[in-house]
Amino acid sequence: MRSFAYARPLTVMAAVQALADASPHARIIAGGTTLYDLMKLNIEAPQALVDVSRLGELTTFDTSGTRELVFGAMARMSDIAADRTLQTDYPALAESLWLAASPQVRNMATVGGNLLQRTRCAYFRGGAPYPCNKRQPGSGCAAIGGLDRSHAILGTSTSCVAVYPGDWAVALAAFDAQLDTVSPRGERTIPIDELHREPGETPHLETILKPDELIVRIRVPVTVAGRASTYHKIRDRASYAFALASAAVALRVDGDTVREARIALGGVATRPWRARDAERALMGGALTEGSARAAGELAFTAARTGQYNRFKVELGARTIAEALMIAKGRAKTS
Ligand SMILES: Cc1cc2nc3c(=O)[nH]c(=O)nc-3n(C[C@H](O)[C@H](O)[C@H](O)COP(=O)(O)OP(=O)(O)OC[C@H]3O[C@@H](n4cnc5c(N)ncnc54)[C@H](O)[C@@H]3O)c2cc1C
Repeated sequence: MRSFAYARPLTVMAAVQALADASPHARIIAGGTTLYDLMKLNIEAPQALVDVSRLGELTTFDTSGTRELVFGAMARMSDIAADRTLQTDYPALAESLWLAASPQVRNMATVGGNLLQRTRCAYFRGGAPYPCNKRQPGSGCAAIGGLDRSHAILGTSTSCVAVYPGDWAVALAAFDAQLDTVSPRGERTIPIDELHREPGETPHLETILKPDELIVRIRVPVTVAGRASTYHKIRDRASYAFALASAAVALRVDGDTVREARIALGGVATRPWRARDAERALMGGALTEGSARAAGELAFTAARTGQYNRFKVELGARTIAEALMIAKGRAKTS
């Protein structure tokens, strides 16, 4: 058994100090539903844990603002998913949480920790004897040429094809959310689109966050496109499973004409993936079954498939097309 130091600060400032004291070998722990798993699998072996679960100031959230929605990083997934205003005005955000994990996990897990969950690639989690550049840089990638059914087809590299598994970050990407962080060096704001990195040659570097950087809140700009939105998640079973393909879609339409389209993808890419070409193709035209399908296909023109995940090109295109039609239906009733 490995021993590690443990601190449970009661204020953000005390947490920052605890991180500074233990840097660079400390890990922040929130709900623990990802990190404890990874420690038990010997993938993460922090020398110190800074437990932020008692930072009451980070557990609140407010969905009533006229300029932005604000979510404390320590707010629970289940509490936010149950928020009536969010369900009505931003269904994609509520659904991305509601369709994730299980009730037990959602009751424990935080929306800050959710953003930083790591891939479910079986070779990454399986440990030796599988090479994995993400787990052990330079060791190779067993998924390339291996059992790659669940793996990414967008944003991959010759070093890694692991899928980013989360749902919430995908929905936040569609709404151009921002994160506020604090560290011993001060505060900064990070657009969600810049948080996660593509693997390139360094798949072990998954985000631009520093190890001692605490996410304190997530902010989402208010938009009328929120009401005409959906998080459409396709998976092997209808509950308690990660996405094979998902699409967060939000629309602003004027009659039949699309004035604004936002599309972000999950389950198919190495990071939350904004499908900007597909968005542009829809602008100014009527949204029909045909144009929705064409946008779906456009989103996958750069896809690179492996042995067993070619089906994700068709599945992904259909997922986008269906999501667009769901969002269009909501635009009519909003
Ligand atoms: C069985 C199972 C099924 C799941 N299914 C899904 C699913 O379908 N969809 C989905 O999206 N997720 C799924 N998850 C993942 C789950 O949602 C995440 O484990 C959870 O959201 C992580 O939150 P946490 O608070 O427990 O994070 P922790 O485990 O405490 O931390 C996770 C990571 O985030 C870091 N961290 C935590 N909080 C902060 C912060 N404020 N600032 C900086 N770093 C921080 C930690 O250092 C750690 O690296 C599943 C998990 C399990 C166990």
